[in-house]
Amino acid sequence: INTAPLILSPVHQQATSNAAAPAYRVDGKAVNYQTLSQHVISLSQQLAAQGLKAGDRLACISHNNPEQLTLYWACVDSGIVFCPISPRFAPQQIIELIHTHQYHNYWLEPEQAAELKQLLESQPNISGINVDLTLRSSGKAELIDPTRAVNAILTSGSSGTPKAAAHSLTNHIASAAGSGEQISLNANDSWLLSLPLFHIGGLAILNRCALAGACVVFEDKTQTLATQVVRDRVSHLSLVSAQLQQLLATGATDNNCLSQVKAMLLGGGAISGDLLAEVAKYGIKAYTSYGMTEMGSQITTGPALSDGSSGKTLSGRELKIVGNEIWVKGECLFLGYLAKDGFNLPLNDSGWFYTKDLGHLDANGNLCIDGRADNMFISGGENIQPEEIEAALKLHPLIADAIVFPEADTKFGHLPAAILKLANDSANQPSEAELTEFLADKIARFKRPRCYYPWPEVSSTGIKVVRKQVIEAVRVKV
Ligand code: ATP
Ligand code: MG
Repeated sequence: INTAPLILSPVHQQATSNAAAPAYRVDGKAVNYQTLSQHVISLSQQLAAQGLKAGDRLACISHNNPEQLTLYWACVDSGIVFCPISPRFAPQQIIELIHTHQYHNYWLEPEQAAELKQLLESQPNISGINVDLTLRSSGKAELIDPTRAVNAILTSGSSGTPKAAAHSLTNHIASAAGSGEQISLNANDSWLLSLPLFHIGGLAILNRCALAGACVVFEDKTQTLATQVVRDRVSHLSLVSAQLQQLLATGATDNNCLSQVKAMLLGGGAISGDLLAEVAKYGIKAYTSYGMTEMGSQITTGPALSDGSSGKTLSGRELKIVGNEIWVKGECLFLGYLAKDGFNLPLNDSGWFYTKDLGHLDANGNLCIDGRADNMFISGGENIQPEEIEAALKLHPLIADAIVFPEADTKFGHLPAAILKLANDSANQPSEAELTEFLADKIARFKRPRCYYPWPEVSSTGIKVVRKQVIEAVRVKV
């Protein structure tokens, strides 16, 4: 029997205590918590009227927009599982994901291509729903059980097909509370929704802001990040490495627009030491973080240090390193991957979740990520961790990104090869001889790539480069 006390969803809590404060800002216009609360109640009624009930899974194929934000909070109230999918997946992939994870209903943002719409409409057993954000309800919000699933977020698919990780509001509350220990957030703050809601980093922004009574700022794609930070008085933003590079390259630092920023949360993957050094040069208040979908985003966080370490474990999480693998547990740990009936939560006998990430703690107790266990390969009997070589390559001023992978070799079994993305579409790739010399004092000789490939064209579906896709594209060509 579930004995968790029922609670009022944070959006409605803010509507009683903080009604006139902006809940979100879009195209320069603010919507306050009272209005959002009324939209959420109306949307819950709209979902019920269209036949959805507690426990149903609702796919949401959309870019970030107010409809999607409101839909999430309506799902929270209704016990419906909000299941966002990147609209950048190929239409056939979207259909497959919907069938695999048994999402029987979907909402498609109106701007989506007719091809996807037709394909969805032709599927048996799934039906589309409509969302009308012009309607408000003055009805009363119901109390909810915070332990039930409110969302399923697809992992990035680095190790294969994305898995749908389900979280409860209790998970999100613990996640936000721990985050707040390092990065304070209050009702006067505004967090730029600079990550998509189909990634945990985006959804975590909605949860943190609603819990703190802060404002979510939708990105305006006609502006650079820097101009929007000034225009909308952004105090907080979350960025992955590529966005940070872009921000630094678009003059954000010239007019010191970032001086008003209270916190820039960096994560999603490794952030190179020289990027962090540049951030430090401008006095930006940046935080690095190690996180994953299954832990509701951040696990560790700390003020950015130029060594690229990821800070310390936040409360609500436990972390230990066994061998060199990172294990986690705690209140933030997800409910499990969506399965046919309920959830599949793969834990060991003591309740630990294996991240399959490798890491160590430095002398100050900060977590350093050494790479993913499944990327490791053996060359001439020696273990090679591609991320170590990638980090060394990325120190080169002409290299924006690098992926190292094993190529079969009759003598050594495998040899490392590298795929290079040049900075600013620089035409002059450094020569092999130049790279050999550059790497000489950075990595052991046997780790040096024996071959370099140019970065292939691959379409991205999320915020991070899916290395498998990039490697496959190069393998097809050679
Ligand atoms: P999948 O689980 O489908 O294979 P994924 O693990 O990439 O994909 P996410 O949950 O989006 O999906 O990403 C979490 C992973 O990102 C972590 O397990 C880790 O490998 C990587 N990561 C997160 N933060 C960092 C960091 N600070 N440094 C290096 N890697 C990081
Ligand atoms: Mg993963």
